Formats: sequence, C-alpha cells, structure tokens
Amino acid sequence: MKALRYHGARDVRVETVPDPQLADARDMIVKVTACAICGSDLHLYDGLIPTLQKGDVLGHEFMGEVLEVGREVRDVQKGDRVVVPFNIGCGDCFFCKRQLWSLCDRSNPNAALATKQFGAAPAGLFGYSHMFGGYPGGQAEYVRVPFADINHFKVETDLSDEQVLFIGDIFATGFMAVDVCDVQEGDVVAVWGCGPVGLFALKSAHMLGAKRVIAIDRFPERLELARTKCDATPIDYEKSDVIEVLKELTSGRGPDICIDAVGMEAHGHGLEFWYDRVKQAVGLQADRPTALRQAVMACRKGGTVSVPGVYGGPIDHFPFGAAFNKGLTLKMGQTHTHRYAPALLQRIAAGEIDPSFIITHRLHLEEAPKGYDIFQHKKEGCIKVVLRP
Ligand SMILES: [Zn+2]
Ligand SMILES: [Zn+2]
Repeated sequence: MKALRYHGARDVRVETVPDPQLADARDMIVKVTACAICGSDLHLYDGLIPTLQKGDVLGHEFMGEVLEVGREVRDVQKGDRVVVPFNIGCGDCFFCKRQLWSLCDRSNPNAALATKQFGAAPAGLFGYSHMFGGYPGGQAEYVRVPFADINHFKVETDLSDEQVLFIGDIFATGFMAVDVCDVQEGDVVAVWGCGPVGLFALKSAHMLGAKRVIAIDRFPERLELARTKCDATPIDYEKSDVIEVLKELTSGRGPDICIDAVGMEAHGHGLEFWYDRVKQAVGLQADRPTALRQAVMACRKGGTVSVPGVYGGPIDHFPFGAAFNKGLTLKMGQTHTHRYAPALLQRIAAGEIDPSFIITHRLHLEEAPKGYDIFQHKKEGCIKVVLRP
C-alpha cells in the first residue's frame, strides 16, 4: 500500500509499504477514505519528537471502511463506515472504565519510555512515535486498528467524510477544552489561538451556552474565520494589549474561562524538546508560554483556565502565584475522544455544526509532503489539510 513515512526532519515521503495484517483477534483493518494532517503532526515533521524512527508511518486523524475484522470482534463488521479516534483505548482498564480514554493503561506497549518522561504513560496513539506505542498511522491506504470494538465510531448517516472526520480528534479536542470548564449562563470564553482546535473551542463554547466568545490570534484569515464562522470577537495580539482589551470586554473582571489553544491543534502529545522549542521561538514568533501566562493573568478571579495545547516538559516563569491567589481552576490533558465523539456526531447530524468549515486544502495522499509544507508554513492561508488516498 501507499503510506506517508517519516525520513527525518522536514523529510516525509509517500512510499510503498507492506499492507497491515490482523495481529490480534480483536483487531480490524480499515481502508482509509479520508485523513488529515494535524498541528501535532508538525512536531513530528520538525523532528522534535524523540523515539520517532525513520520509516514510521504518520497520521492519527482518519476514517474509512472496515475491510477485515479479527475473530473476537463483535461490534463492527466488514463494510462498516467508521471514524477512528486518535488515541487507542482498551475499554477494560481502570482508566477506560472511568471514561479517561486518553490515559488507557493497556494500549501503549512501550509504556516504559513514556513513564520515564511523565511518571506514567498515556494511551497509545496512531502514528505518533514509539513512546506512544509505535502504531503505524492513518496517512495511508490501510490501517490496523487494535481493540476494534472500542476504537471506532460508526457513521450510518449520509454525512460526508469531511463533515465527520474531525470527531476523532480536533473537534473532540476543542469541545472537551470547553466542556471541562462547566460553562455557566452568561459566561465569557476567551480562546488563545485560532487554529483548528481553537476554532472548534469557539464553536463549542457557543453550543455549551457561553454568552460571548473572544478569539485571540495574529493571522488575519484565522481571526476572520473566528469572527464570521464562530461569531467571536477577534483580538489581534500584535495590534492590541490583550489583557486590557479583555478587561474592557468584561466589565473589568476578565473572562470567566480562558483556553490556551495556541498549540494550534490540541492534544497533549509528549514533547521532550518542548522547552527548547519555546526557547527557540522567543522573539521570533508567537511563543507558547506567553499565551498560557497571559491566559492565567487575564482570567477572572475564580475562573477556569483550560489547556488543550501541547505541553511536554517544564515551563519557565509560570505565574502559579496568580493562579493560586485568584483561586483559578486549571484543566488540561489529552482528549478523551471516545467520551465525546458519539454526541458530536449527533450534533453534526442534527445540523448544529458542519465541521468542514475549517478545511482549506484538499489533496491526494500522494501530495501529502506538499501538504505538510503548506501547513507548516501556513502558506495560502492554510488552516486544515485533508488527504484522500
Ligand atoms: Zn491530532
Ligand atoms: Zn484501557
């Protein structure tokens, strides 16, 4: 089959690799009909993720048709149309049973590598280095999906791939970022970063009852999308004093909920070199700890700061005293995709939202290397690239 493989920093290639095989009686093989490039794929692309190896197949946002199932698979069969979550759950461990799917204890065969980094290992992920399980990803014609009964969301409506694909990753991530904040009537929600996850967080804030949503970024096309498609008040942080403007918009108190989605697209994949990356970024471009610090400083007393963005290591000068003395609640973590996706699919089917509004580029899988380049450099106003095998 054809698949996108990592060869080194900024060197990915579509090549022919062996077709995946069932390796366990609970596996299935999915024939991919659509996949996407995620913001977090860019960290892999940049060569910043340790334990990623030359030849690894990337991609963790994908959907398709079930081609084959193992003997013990009960809930899905050949021919079913499914979206696959980016993180792999087993359905039966301490964490999965508590709906903490991104923390599954059984789906990461290389848990020891991640435990060294974090004290305990998160779930295995598709196409995201060996520290996260070493599973071949979905930017490919076919993918092997473990624990098939658990890791699929059936799509039985006539919605298009583009409308449903993102429930397995970025839409669920943006939604959870708001959901964990327990929005109250009249709340103002501010979101730093208007990449795919930020845009879905803005949309979700409306769905969950926010009175007003505010979008903070510097790219005009992203702020425009936030304004026109997400009914958000835009703030260009290069042109205004964000904290001052937020105060003006909230009777001097600050937003009730502040969301750091500057990770552009958000699920906290581990980044051993995050700290270095930040240091590199200082003075060159929007730097990530600046957004998190600003969110903490801007948040109203007793408010909630939610972090769907990517963090992997220690951070400098985190204003913990401000968080403590203002009595803030901090929420963070990788998305519990399985908890959210079915309900999001229902919202899409009901016409409440059409997630395809973020797609700016549609390419063939063969053009994936070009897609990475366009997305990496935000060329042509790129917000989201969808690939078709
Ligand atoms: Zn992702
Ligand atoms: Zn589990």
